[in-house]
Amino acid sequence: MSVTIVGGGIVGLYTAYCLVEFAHVPASQICIVGKYLPGDQSASGYTSPWAGGNWSCISPSDENTLFYDRFTYENLGKLQQTLLKHFEGRDGEWLGLARRPTRELWDYVPAERKIASLESYLEEYRVLSQAELDQFRPSPPAFGITFKTWNFNCPVFLYNMAEFLRSRGVKFVRAELTHLAQATAYVNGEFKGKRMIFNCTGLGAHDLGGVKDHKVYPARGQVVVVRAPHVNENCLRWGRDYATYVIPRPGAVKELVLGGFLQVDNWNAQDASLAETEDILQRTTTLLPKIGNRSDLQILRVAAGLRPARYGGPRLERELQDGLVIVHNYGASGYGYQGGLGMGYRAMKLALAESKL
Ligand SMILES: Cc1cc2nc3c(=O)[nH]c(=O)nc-3n(C[C@H](O)[C@H](O)[C@H](O)COP(=O)(O)OP(=O)(O)OC[C@H]3O[C@@H](n4cnc5c(N)ncnc54)[C@H](O)[C@@H]3O)c2cc1C
Repeated sequence: MSVTIVGGGIVGLYTAYCLVEFAHVPASQICIVGKYLPGDQSASGYTSPWAGGNWSCISPSDENTLFYDRFTYENLGKLQQTLLKHFEGRDGEWLGLARRPTRELWDYVPAERKIASLESYLEEYRVLSQAELDQFRPSPPAFGITFKTWNFNCPVFLYNMAEFLRSRGVKFVRAELTHLAQATAYVNGEFKGKRMIFNCTGLGAHDLGGVKDHKVYPARGQVVVVRAPHVNENCLRWGRDYATYVIPRPGAVKELVLGGFLQVDNWNAQDASLAETEDILQRTTTLLPKIGNRSDLQILRVAAGLRPARYGGPRLERELQDGLVIVHNYGASGYGYQGGLGMGYRAMKLALAESKL
């Protein structure tokens, strides 16, 4: 092995995919090590299965994030085709990665640079007219757009990505590390003269020895998942102090994810409160009345998860230690599925860059 990726969440898997697809690292040279791996669930130790998930405007407007989002949006099609070729006879619904229309609404006008970036590449992008905004009475949003987005059935997609990588030769090892240096135990070869470790530990970066990054914090989310075969569109509304979203998950069950919350520094993913559930149901059925009456909804489950947020944004950074290249790639907050492919690409570029630090 010449590459160890610590972390089996979506960021770790996207990183492995980038190494194989873009840098042509032999998959058999890559080992993914994680306390939790695709197929597992953990309320507080593994964020990826809990995501909604879709590609949305939740992410900030700095240059790096705009790149991560754009790269991911533009390259998910190739990834989808690659996986579907592998899982012959299946479709995007089965894979857990499919296209749906979306509308995003703001109580304020979003940053100009964000809008300029979005309109330059989003498919079927259109700014909503005043008449369309006025339909959201009694409090019409200040701005809104519609476009064709990507929808994920997160646990399913995560599992299928892992199966694809495994079939190519990527090795998965279940282990909990107390120090990042323990990752060297899995690296015994070189790729182009380099031994590489990628730190994709999400919230785990807060406590992992050798990292202990206390800029990392959880942004807790709670969602209500209902069965709603008649809703095949996304609808999201961003306020200054709230986020309301309706996200259909690809797949036969026709789950609709209703959210949500972004609670800064709240580490409690074990408990879900009834008051928050009622608040979510009230906000989402008002936003998109076609969901149905609250009393008629078939609620499948209520869940909470912790987004791996970081003050200053995700950490994409390279270190050299005793001839070893270490690339940190964590802090994807609420946008690991929609930006993580771009993060993985940048992490791969950082690792393979020729320049010394
Ligand atoms: C309610 C909710 C809704 C969301 N909706 C969306 C959405 O619609 N779109 C979107 O893009 N994103 C969404 N997100 C965010 C998304 O889920 C995260 O950005 C993403 O899952 C982060 O992935 P990760 O790989 O960085 O972290 P994780 O999935 O947490 O993976 C971390 C990995 O590191 C391992 N690890 C950590 N520490 C150690 C250690 N010491 N030793 C060994 N292994 C270790 C873990 O076991 C795990 O394998 C949502 C999140 C939540 C909670």
